[in-house]
Amino acid sequence: MKDVTVHDKVFTPFIVKERIQQRISELAAEINKEYAGKNPLMIGILNGSFIFAADLFRELTIEAEISFIKLASYKGTSSTGHVVTAIGMEEDLHGRHIVIVEDIIDTGTTLHSFLPEIHHRQPASVKIATFLTKPAALKHDITAAYTAFEIDNKFVVGYGLDYNGLGRNLPDLYILKE
Ligand code: 5GP
Ligand code: MG
Repeated sequence: MKDVTVHDKVFTPFIVKERIQQRISELAAEINKEYAGKNPLMIGILNGSFIFAADLFRELTIEAEISFIKLASYKGTSSTGHVVTAIGMEEDLHGRHIVIVEDIIDTGTTLHSFLPEIHHRQPASVKIATFLTKPAALKHDITAAYTAFEIDNKFVVGYGLDYNGLGRNLPDLYILKE
């Protein structure tokens, strides 16, 4: 497989699509088992998670629903100075089993700021499914119940993840070349 150039940077193949699909099947099997009869509501965080969410959702054989939201980040007046709010969340989460679907947990700041908004709506349970995590970059107490891959603290593109808007349509995952 060849390197790719996205904008001004060169990326090298990192995780091939066959391996990605294999891991997704494994995660889906766990979710199928854990959520049978519970009609979980998967909530995909746009834009980055759309491909992972679609592939994961297709592998579910249980009754399940999916919805997508966008997060808007702004400087709040709270002590953290960082507030994340959901755009497009119309479902009633009360009593529902929620699975948040993310592309990548980096510092964990995004989910740390956003999870209270989910809990405020009184769901029955909340778990996170993420395509990637960078354990070395994590700054908050965020744990994903389902993680496809743990990776080093380096920038990746492809499989839904972008570099300044480009690269999301690469079927495999690529990592920034040193
Ligand atoms: P966090 O709030 O966890 O630090 O940041 C998560 C967000 O940062 C992700 O949803 C993604 O948009 C972006 N991000 C973090 N690391 C990477 C990376 O290696 N590649 C890409 N394309 N986006 C990343
Ligand atoms: Mg994101």
